[in-house]
Amino acid sequence: MTLRRSPALAGAQGCVRTRVLAVAALAAAMTAQAVAQQATPMSTPMSTPAATPAAAPAAPDFRQCLASLRPEALAKGVSPDVFDSRTAALAPDMTVVGSLDAQPEFITPIWDYLAGLVDEERVADGREMLERWRDVLAKVETQYGVDPATVVAVWGVESNFGRNFGKRPLLQSLSTLSCYGRRQAYFRGEFFNVLRIIQDGDVAPEKLNGSWAGAFGHTQFMPSTFLRTAVDFDDDGRRDLVDSVPDALASTANFLKRAGWQSGMPWGFEVKLPAGFDASGSGRRNRQPAASWASRGIVRIDGAPLVAGPVRADTGAALLLPAGSDGPAFLVTSNFNAIFSYNAAESYALAIAHLSDRLRGGGPFTTPWPTDDPGLSRAERRELQRLLIERGHDIGEADGMIGARSREALKAALARMGIDSDGRAGRKALQALQRQ
Ligand code: CA
Repeated sequence: MTLRRSPALAGAQGCVRTRVLAVAALAAAMTAQAVAQQATPMSTPMSTPAATPAAAPAAPDFRQCLASLRPEALAKGVSPDVFDSRTAALAPDMTVVGSLDAQPEFITPIWDYLAGLVDEERVADGREMLERWRDVLAKVETQYGVDPATVVAVWGVESNFGRNFGKRPLLQSLSTLSCYGRRQAYFRGEFFNVLRIIQDGDVAPEKLNGSWAGAFGHTQFMPSTFLRTAVDFDDDGRRDLVDSVPDALASTANFLKRAGWQSGMPWGFEVKLPAGFDASGSGRRNRQPAASWASRGIVRIDGAPLVAGPVRADTGAALLLPAGSDGPAFLVTSNFNAIFSYNAAESYALAIAHLSDRLRGGGPFTTPWPTDDPGLSRAERRELQRLLIERGHDIGEADGMIGARSREALKAALARMGIDSDGRAGRKALQALQRQ
């Protein structure tokens, strides 16, 4: 789904908050600059009289904007009553406009990203969920052809099994993004969609909270995805992705099925490249028959041939090298693309794919990431934060989410030990703190 928070930041709310503040500060600075320019209209020869409006139109009044959206909402099937009652008390939340424009201030290496998303804690939680929802998952598999481990892995990465839905009221975020910032047309569509979800009675309005961009519930669907693919699996007449786990699990499977999921096909697997392999043909978009990759000397990581079981000689597959030829290599099938369509990021799809393998009893990747400073699990991140708090750093709670404050504190703590660091929370940093 588009415009959901980058999965690289899914576990880093503190970081997102900080970025929003940074952007707000930048916006304030730019406003000050604009004011300064307006205040000195005659300062350059090209200036025109002060009465001439600035190049950028003034931000529209929010109530005026809502009024202008009303006819379009009604044309999209929203009833006048629902539109009027649900917009009467709305006030804009400008921080979501900041989120829309925010650039990541810290690039997360893929090994950090995966270490946090596929850690022992999430594997254990996922196995518990497989057990707890076994009957529902079996029915879901019968109906949609998507296996329990894949469905549960999506759930674990999207919302940490329902623990992390996001707290922003969808009506407020989506109405704000409909009136301000880039991509207003897109967000207006989502705003009307969320009104329709309320109108249909699927999810109670007060339960419609989510990410700044409007993804919500166990599955973190955008409202448009909800309207297209959500299903009522517990037969209570409502498609409820907030309070019904069966609805959420079945909706995820339905999404994957509609994205082209092939029942019984693996997402892919780790492979071994022959010495001196020419990696120029790698990349998710370069799909070749499995037999073609096999003829180039690629085997499964345990040495078994590529073509076996559901993977036939003509099965299309792509070679993924997320960290280059020196790191783990994967051959991925069309099912990897189905996962990718959930949130267009290869690292995200790999996290779900790998978590699904771990839930089936598989181990970590065989080939190590090309680093001498691996990433940390959430438990290790919490320990690192506790060690920083013990040293007097004010970084809030030790919640395992490494944001800008944690990184600044880590940088300072390491600097006192004479260690130069950009604040990345990796194995070496944790070990340095543990030693003192
Ligand atoms: Ca239901």
